[in-house]
Amino acid sequence: MKKSKGLLFRIKCINSILPTKDICFLRNPTLYKNQRCIACLRNDESLYHIAEYEIYVKIWKNLEEEALQLTGLQTITKLDFALEDKSLRIAIFGNELNSHIQNRKMLLRGLTSIKQQREVMKLTSSKRKANKVLTIFLEQFWTCFFERLWKFRCEIMIEWEKRNNISAREKKTKRKRKRANLDKENCRPPDAEKKTKKEKEIDIQGEVCKKIDKWIAYGSKEEWSQFKLK
Ligand SMILES: [Zn+2]
Repeated sequence: MKKSKGLLFRIKCINSILPTKDICFLRNPTLYKNQRCIACLRNDESLYHIAEYEIYVKIWKNLEEEALQLTGLQTITKLDFALEDKSLRIAIFGNELNSHIQNRKMLLRGLTSIKQQREVMKLTSSKRKANKVLTIFLEQFWTCFFERLWKFRCEIMIEWEKRNNISAREKKTKRKRKRANLDKENCRPPDAEKKTKKEKEIDIQGEVCKKIDKWIAYGSKEEWSQFKLK
């Protein structure tokens, strides 16, 4: 990640102002209509929803493993000692699903706990080293979150915006929309109307799951290149 862009991304995470749908809606209610998550259609989309919603579980698993491995590599090269991925995972995320998700949410906000510090200290037998390990991990965690999950989620969002006739220009010119666009938005394609809300939910979720598998297997799409960081 480019340094300045990476810093900006982190600042947004820490302040919980990444443009998730709840934030988009707050900024532009006319355009976004509601806070509903576009990947599951069930809950409102916030940063914490992304952290806990099961649809992203595979991506989370992979990206957290990657962050742990990268941390392991860096502790060898920078701090000159070896850490086992598995012990580090338990020290950082705990053993239970609830604590795992809770810790993930805190890490997203750039926060580590005394408990994590204590647990990592058991592996490093020094407070200074434990703090360094946590700092390295947080860095890797954010980078992997950005590269593996946030980019993917942005692809879905871009597709959703296209479907809803929301252009980049419109996002900037708040609440000044042309009548023509409103009309376009009001008439739905005929097949969408026949489907119930539940069916639509299942459709979208299935589509997102397929995309997740593809994303994990092949990485980002060609079209992504225009948004890619240099
Ligand atoms: Zn969702």
